[in-house]
Amino acid sequence: MGKRIYNFNAGPAALPLPVLEEIQGELLDFKGSGMSILEVSHRSKWFEDVINEAVERTKRLLGLGDGFEVVFVQGGASMQFAMIPMNLALNGKPVDYINTGTWATKAIKEAKVQGKDVRVIASSEDQGFSCIPEGVRVDGNAAYVHFTSNNTIKGTQWAEFPESGSVPLISDMSSDIMSRPFDPSPFGLIYAGAQKNIGPSGTALVIIRKDMLERVPAGLPAMLKYSTYTEEGSMYNTPACFSIYTINLVLKWLEEKIGGLEKMDRINKEKGSVIYDFIDKSGFYKGTAARDSRSLMNVTFRLPNEDLEKVFVAEATKAGFGGLKGHRSVGGCRASIYNAVGVDAVKALVEFMSEFQKKNG
Ligand SMILES: *Cc1c(COP(=O)(O)O)cnc(C)c1O
Repeated sequence: MGKRIYNFNAGPAALPLPVLEEIQGELLDFKGSGMSILEVSHRSKWFEDVINEAVERTKRLLGLGDGFEVVFVQGGASMQFAMIPMNLALNGKPVDYINTGTWATKAIKEAKVQGKDVRVIASSEDQGFSCIPEGVRVDGNAAYVHFTSNNTIKGTQWAEFPESGSVPLISDMSSDIMSRPFDPSPFGLIYAGAQKNIGPSGTALVIIRKDMLERVPAGLPAMLKYSTYTEEGSMYNTPACFSIYTINLVLKWLEEKIGGLEKMDRINKEKGSVIYDFIDKSGFYKGTAARDSRSLMNVTFRLPNEDLEKVFVAEATKAGFGGLKGHRSVGGCRASIYNAVGVDAVKALVEFMSEFQKKNG
């Protein structure tokens, strides 16, 4: 095997090594089937067990009661931007959005394109999306309120979710799902493209409160209707089998090796303090997100100038630290430290950053 690097990619991103090893170990003969999981029918008992297990693990990890359905939908998180207003808007009511960056902006655009009555009730655009808006007021008349729990590009994250009263919250949790526990009860729908924190690309995990399904208009195409997925157990057509299989293994790792979301949260907080404390004390690196809005998943920072940033990324890559270049739309540097990135990797990165500063500071 070649040497594995410290992987700080934003997405697709690092997966836990024990999961990759498990995939490798059972790749040629999945559970005595004499076939790879890549080759078995999605209607077989083998795959049925896998998808059922993934759903059950999601429910256990997030503490979802019987009031929620868990489905897998292809098309990534971006497909959800379109499906949410299509399925869950209500006649005569506005749909409310909170704009905290690129992904929220795209979600808003997809609702507008469908002619929905979109209201942006809060935004941090004036601050260059460097923070989470404060004191968000939700009007009880809205059909739902949509927000992005973690802003992958700008490195901001909601520490506490907005209060919405009886209006269902909808959240894009693509880049921080399963990173911390939270109360699911105010949520009408939660979605996450798998490739940041829970698996490979190719599927979105969608959690929908059962009462929301009553809103789904009858006239929608089957593949764009949430009820198709809940009624058919995500198998109206062939699902992203390999992605779902890997998600199940990641969730198993979370449950059995890590010990659940409270433990995961503690580890993520430790990783966050290791790197942010170092950045703050360095006098060389500078965090780009407001302190009270900082993300524990995507750490965005700058160096004194862009030339140094280029050298930093190049030298880091050479030294075995991958994925540190900031998103092409914002520049700078970004270390994505999702669940699968260990404390050891963050400590090694900080050591590298410290050495780099000594040579270039
Ligand atoms: C990556 C990302 C998306 C887009 O995901 P796709 O699966 O590529 O559509 C949407 N929202 C957030 C918060 C993301 O991080």
